[in-house]
Amino acid sequence: MLTAHLPSGYVLARLAPKGRWLMPAALIGAVLPDFDMLWFHFVDHGSIHHHRYWVHVPAFWAAVAALALPVLAFFARRCLAPAVMFFAALLLHMLLDSIGGGILWGAPFSDRLYTLVEVPASQPHWVLSFLLHWTFMLELGIWGWAFYLWRKGKRV
Ligand SMILES: [Zn+2]
Repeated sequence: MLTAHLPSGYVLARLAPKGRWLMPAALIGAVLPDFDMLWFHFVDHGSIHHHRYWVHVPAFWAAVAALALPVLAFFARRCLAPAVMFFAALLLHMLLDSIGGGILWGAPFSDRLYTLVEVPASQPHWVLSFLLHWTFMLELGIWGWAFYLWRKGKRV
């Protein structure tokens, strides 16, 4: 997914029950994994698919959630709902990345990148290949959905 992670977080928060800090938690969780692009470009110089970094590995976030959520439930209950929203947005990010990009759903037991649709390298640059593939319509749909909810009115 190239462009629709932020609006997907917005849609997620808008569809959830009202709650304090849910929108920021959703927006941050929806985009956080892609900050690994900085490491991808400036440290690894594109040598490793960034979906192989730990911030894109579902098992990593599942372990963090399994540790953090019980602690918050006992010691900081008012932070629990935003934390659940944050992890839900992370899960949404990885689900959306699975459409055309591939995610390590089997890690640590498998190093296979699972993808729903193979986007062929049909253009000189990979970004153009993704922009001109039919899966980009899904991204436009998410943008449209977010825009619709935003126009419909502020609820959060
Ligand atoms: Zn991503």
